[in-house]
Amino acid sequence: MTSLEVPISAVPGITWPAVPDANSSEILALAYQLAQSEWWTPDLLVARQLAQAGELLAHATRSVPYYRDRIDGYISSTGTLTSERWRSTPILSRAVLQEYADRFKSEALPKAHAPVSQISTSGSTGRVVTILGTKMTALMNAAVGLRYHQWHQREFGKVVASIQVVKGNRAEAAAAGKASPWVPGYGGGTIFYCDINETVSAQAERLKKYNPSYLFAYPSTIDALLECLERTDLPALIHVATLGEALDAELRGRVRAVWDVPLVDAYSATEAGMLALQCPDHEHYHVQSERCILEVLREDGSACPPGETGRVVITDLHNFAVPLIRYEIGDYAEVGDLCSCGRGLPVLTRVAGRVRNMLTLPNGDKKWPRFGSARLAGIAPVKQAQLVQKSLNEIEARLSVERPLTLDETTKLRETILNGLGHSFDLTFSFVDVFPRTVNGKFEDFQSLL
Ligand SMILES: [Zn+2]
Repeated sequence: MTSLEVPISAVPGITWPAVPDANSSEILALAYQLAQSEWWTPDLLVARQLAQAGELLAHATRSVPYYRDRIDGYISSTGTLTSERWRSTPILSRAVLQEYADRFKSEALPKAHAPVSQISTSGSTGRVVTILGTKMTALMNAAVGLRYHQWHQREFGKVVASIQVVKGNRAEAAAAGKASPWVPGYGGGTIFYCDINETVSAQAERLKKYNPSYLFAYPSTIDALLECLERTDLPALIHVATLGEALDAELRGRVRAVWDVPLVDAYSATEAGMLALQCPDHEHYHVQSERCILEVLREDGSACPPGETGRVVITDLHNFAVPLIRYEIGDYAEVGDLCSCGRGLPVLTRVAGRVRNMLTLPNGDKKWPRFGSARLAGIAPVKQAQLVQKSLNEIEARLSVERPLTLDETTKLRETILNGLGHSFDLTFSFVDVFPRTVNGKFEDFQSLL
C-alpha cells in the first residue's frame, strides 16, 4: 500500500520531493524497510529475527545482571542462533520480572540507543514495574505507527481524537483542548488528546467539539461513548481505532450499528508497544515481526498450530535498556493461517486477554466470559458493569447505575449474566459510582481473584 502523503521538508525552498529532518528521516527509513519486509516469506522473516535476537542475547548476557548470572541458560555456545536454540532459551515470567526488576537494566547501553524514557506497567498484584524505553524503541514505535496509518489509509490532514492516559505536556494540551500534528514527519493534520479519566459525558462533549475523523481509544471507552453519542454527533468520523484491552467481537457490530463506521484494532502491550495490527483486508491481526518475536505456546512450551489458543511470549528485539527475552506477558492469543493478503507476517485470529480476566468454572475449566454490557444496559439503567470472581462459586457483579434498580430488573440482570457465564454461580450485586482504572488507564470488565 502506498501513501500519497508527502513528508515535511526541512530544506528552505524544497517542498517536493521532501528532504525531511534527521529524526523524521530515521522514521521514514525504517517505515520504507517495513513496507518491503511485510511481503517477505515467513522463513526469511524468521532468519532475520534470529540474527537480531542473537545481537540482543549477546548484549543482555554481557551487560544485564539477571541474564549475566544465568548465562548457561541463555547462551550455550557461540555462533548463529538457531530456532532450536531459541526454543530452549528460558521463558521469563511476569512474577520474575517484578521480583528482580532492578536486575534487568543494562549496565552498558550503547550510546546510539540513548536517551532512555520510563514506561510503567502494573502486574496482577498491582505492583508497578518500570521498564525503560530507548531512542530505538521510540523509532520502532513511530515506524510501526506510520505503517498502521498507511495500512488503514488514514489521511494525514484529518483530525484525530485520542482518549488515553495523558501526562506532562499532553495533560496541559488535553485540558486546554490544544491540538498538535499527529504523524511524525508529516504535517497538516491535528490530534486532540483527551484524558481517559474524565467523565464519559465530558469526553463526549469534547468529541462533539473536535469532530474527529479518527477516534483512538480503549474498547471500554468506546463502549461507554456509544451510549451517549449518535452518528450525527460525529459527522466526520471515518473509523474507530482501539487498542490496549482485549476487544470483545460484539463491539465491532455496535460501532457499525450506532456510528456506521468500521472498527480497526491493534494488539499492544505497555512493555513493548504495538505487537500486532489489524490486516488492511481482514479483521485478524498481523504480528509486527520486525520489532518483536511473538510466540504462542502450549502449556508444554511447544508452539501452537493454527486454530489453537496459547499463552503469548514476546521478545522486544530492540530494547537494549531493559531486554525482555521470551517474556510471558500474561495474554492468550489464537494462531491463524497465513493471510490471503500476501503478507508473510504471522496471523493472530484473536487476542483473548489476560489470564487474570478468565472465568474458572467449578469443575476447573477456564474460559473468557462473555457478557455484553450493551445487553445489560437494555435491561436496566446500567452505565458500566464489572464482574469479579471471588471463589469457585461466587461472582460479584459491580454496577454503576443511573438510579436504584427494581426487583424485576435485578432478576433479569441475574438471568442474563448467569446465562452469559454458562453456570449458575452464586451471584451478588454491589453498586459503585465510578470504576477505578489501572495505572495504564485500562478497565477490566472481568477480574478473577482465584
Ligand atoms: Zn493480511
